[in-house]
Amino acid sequence: MIRKIDHIGIAVSDLDAQVGFYRDVLGIEFHGFEELPDRGLKVAVFLIGNVRIELLQSTSPDSAIAKYIEKKGEGIHHIAFCTDNAQGELDRLRQAGVQLIDETPKPGADGMQVAFLHPKSTFKVLMELCQK
Ligand code: ZN
Repeated sequence: MIRKIDHIGIAVSDLDAQVGFYRDVLGIEFHGFEELPDRGLKVAVFLIGNVRIELLQSTSPDSAIAKYIEKKGEGIHHIAFCTDNAQGELDRLRQAGVQLIDETPKPGADGMQVAFLHPKSTFKVLMELCQK
């Protein structure tokens, strides 16, 4: 079952500038940085209520974020939903005709297992399922 929004991922090209904006101008609690070398990403995590905001900066020219920024520029990249059973949800959604980017969950930020749904199947919103 999909329970709540876990985080919103935002593609950025200048992480330090954006961290300053979210922390100092907006005044949102900064939680820290995380490196995800497998995904070619450096992530800045903010906490607001029960939702995280993840600023995603590419550290590799062929990361998904580098390609996204090249095509569409900076901005909201994806919405992530929490589930207790990511694989079960992926199987259920595949059966419902949803196209999956990830057939099985993979390691993501914050020790989560994550999997993406293809925006072709979700009315152009890139969606992620994540499980603690
Ligand atoms: Zn995410």
